[in-house]
Amino acid sequence: MGVGTPEDFFDAIERGIDLFDCVTPTRHARNHNAFTSRGKVNLRNQRWREDTGPLDPECDCVACREFPVGVLRHLCTSEEMLGPMLLTLHNLRYFHRLMDEIRAAIEADRFAELRAARLATLEKKLVE
Ligand SMILES: [Zn+2]
Repeated sequence: MGVGTPEDFFDAIERGIDLFDCVTPTRHARNHNAFTSRGKVNLRNQRWREDTGPLDPECDCVACREFPVGVLRHLCTSEEMLGPMLLTLHNLRYFHRLMDEIRAAIEADRFAELRAARLATLEKKLVE
């Protein structure tokens, strides 16, 4: 559908759309990119090589709970399929959590506030 970034979600939801089907989470994962609570992460970057922390400290997916960022980076850069598979699980969980947050924000009348906060975080792009 081509409407799959977090910004697209906020724009569409604001217009009443509540069903999405897009390749963004999986395509980004196959290209070693992750959406995280601290911004977008490109695991090809050397910055993550020695990192022993989780990909996203706020995420409860298996990739974040069981694999340090440095290991995820190693899997991706050595062309191990497990790397993109784990990033896919993470990105899908990121979008599920985002939708949960949006639902709660709508009920609390904080949609605009959440949108500004989330999009500002994603603009940071920790590493290109
Ligand atoms: Zn995760």
